[in-house]
Amino acid sequence: MQIQEKVRVRFAPSPTGYLHIGGARSALFNYLFARRWGGSFLLRIEDTDRTRFVEGALNEIYDSLRWLGLDWDEGPQKGGECGPYVQSERINIYNKRADELLESGHAYRCFCTPERLAALRESQEKSGGLTGYDRYCRDLSSEEIERNLKDNVPFVIRFKIPLGRAVIFEDLIRGRIEYQSDVLDDLVLIKTDKFPTYHMANVVDDHEMKITHVLRGDEWITSTPRHVLLYEAFGWKTPAFAHLPVILSPDGGKLSKRKGAASVMDYKRGGFLPEALFNFLALLGWAPGDDREKMSREDLIAAFSLEHVSPKAAVLDEKKLEWMNGLYMAEAPSSILIKEVMPVWKERGWISAGSSETDSNLLKIIDMMKIRSKRVTELAQNTSYFFVDPAEYEEKAVKKNFKPQAAERLSYLTKELETASDFAHQKLEELFRNIAENQDLKTGDLIHPVRLAISGVSFGPGLFELMEALGKEAVLRRIKRAVEFISSNPAG
Ligand code: GLU
Repeated sequence: MQIQEKVRVRFAPSPTGYLHIGGARSALFNYLFARRWGGSFLLRIEDTDRTRFVEGALNEIYDSLRWLGLDWDEGPQKGGECGPYVQSERINIYNKRADELLESGHAYRCFCTPERLAALRESQEKSGGLTGYDRYCRDLSSEEIERNLKDNVPFVIRFKIPLGRAVIFEDLIRGRIEYQSDVLDDLVLIKTDKFPTYHMANVVDDHEMKITHVLRGDEWITSTPRHVLLYEAFGWKTPAFAHLPVILSPDGGKLSKRKGAASVMDYKRGGFLPEALFNFLALLGWAPGDDREKMSREDLIAAFSLEHVSPKAAVLDEKKLEWMNGLYMAEAPSSILIKEVMPVWKERGWISAGSSETDSNLLKIIDMMKIRSKRVTELAQNTSYFFVDPAEYEEKAVKKNFKPQAAERLSYLTKELETASDFAHQKLEELFRNIAENQDLKTGDLIHPVRLAISGVSFGPGLFELMEALGKEAVLRRIKRAVEFISSNPAG
């Protein structure tokens, strides 16, 4: 696809709750599309449904987008020439536009009472037919309208859906879509309190904000024929539409709060890195067309295209996200990771409150362990033996590595280590090799019991680096304790 015009896209969340994974994916696709074509990415807040407004949701949306690195070019807290970007601050604009439709005959005032509408619905449901407004006020005489207005009868403004029409639009992902206009309700544009509905505000703003492409979740696809007719009634050019595939939970069902529909901030708290979540979200419904999966922001921008967005549902595979996060953890600068880990260390009393993020010993711990952790939270947990002596030993490893002869070897080793003046990992490695040679052992006969003695587990970073990081005193103390443990719990 080649695009001639200047691309302008928008993410238009409603502040009805946290920013969940589906919303973040929509935002991300808009962002990638804008960056790919050197266009603008707008943020617009669709907050005209005051009954669903959730306090605090706005800030969470801003924070989540920023954490993911989805900076908007125009929008709240940023400004821009099409502002304001919060719909509740644009109420006059929608009313003015609705008046234009009244004048041109594309809209009408509906004075039906809530009671009449409720009774209508009830009888429609009883007869099992289509529900929806029966267009009762569509052809009121001008005298009736004048009288109602004079009597201050409350009214809504409805769109006069042109009847007997095929509404056709080309979806950039799904292809040609056709609806019959007769099945569409004469939808409300302006409510009795003068607030616009979603449809009205959305169309007016996409026009006023010069949006060229509407990329949104496919739950909005049934709104699109209404929007297309509205653009037509206004005499405006319609933007291009692309409806992004639905996201399913790992077991193929609908996303629910329990299954994957967590908020972006939940993923942050769960120990995921923004770069990893960014990469993962990009692959929810899109693929580069080759077998790449780990892609940087720049790679994604360069490769992104709507042609490779699949209309098929995307499955949220949390195992894949974890795997991907592990890749990003391994290459993340330790100076960044330590910022997340320090508070946990301090909270657990493993380091003093005054410890510094630039402490090279602490940074070394992160260097050693980040490649062994899939999440930041796991990283904090995995470093425990750098700070506290192991309270127990991995059971399976005890059977294998804490046999009686291990106690002898460890005791011997203790003596050698006690006289070691240099605890640098190279020196320790040399020492182990010499002892093994003199005692006719394999180095593994020493390495495995020592690892278990000093860390409590049978896996981890290079043993000599670990010993160096722990220091002589802790290593000796832990080995001595292991010798006592083996003597009182002979295995094998
Ligand atoms: N406010 C709608 C939402 O919450 C926007 C839908 C659209 O992008 O048109 O998703």
